[in-house]
Amino acid sequence: MSLLEIRVLGDPILREETRPVEQFTDELRQLIDDMFETMHAAKGIGLAAPQVGRTERVAVVDVDDKPMVIINPEIVVADGKRLKSEEGCLSIPDVYGDVERPDHVIVHALDRDGKQFEIDATELLSRCLQHEIDHLHGKLFIDYLSVLKRRTAMAKWSKEKEKYPGSIRRLTPAQVASHHHRDEEL
Ligand SMILES: [Zn+2]
Repeated sequence: MSLLEIRVLGDPILREETRPVEQFTDELRQLIDDMFETMHAAKGIGLAAPQVGRTERVAVVDVDDKPMVIINPEIVVADGKRLKSEEGCLSIPDVYGDVERPDHVIVHALDRDGKQFEIDATELLSRCLQHEIDHLHGKLFIDYLSVLKRRTAMAKWSKEKEKYPGSIRRLTPAQVASHHHRDEEL
């Protein structure tokens, strides 16, 4: 397994539509393993393929220590109360904002072997799935912010982004070793 570089806001790939996966190859499974390793190293709870510079419709999530890969995911039901909660993103480090989303979703996806499964989720898992599926369609959490909040977030980002030349965030082994707990970044 290897750590992948994380693309940060400014890299156009974060705004691209992904391509549905049609073949379940060893290369795909390698990508999935590397995405899990990268997400855990970055202490995130979700990571989508465009965030590591790839165009496959694949994301990994890990909420409550339940690692899961979702391939070609589709939200088939989104209902329940609309709840507002703070989100962050591994591709927009140190920027946070309140996003309102429906509390309940049912997602259909394929697993690493191409087998279909269903996830019925509420609370953090639901939020995480919606955030990652947005990534697979070029959408970011900042798109949901009000004009004013978005302006504040972007002002913060204009300073933060200096840390990531070429819109690339590299995780170093030292950073990885120092991670004892996981924040809720997606
Ligand atoms: Zn994200």
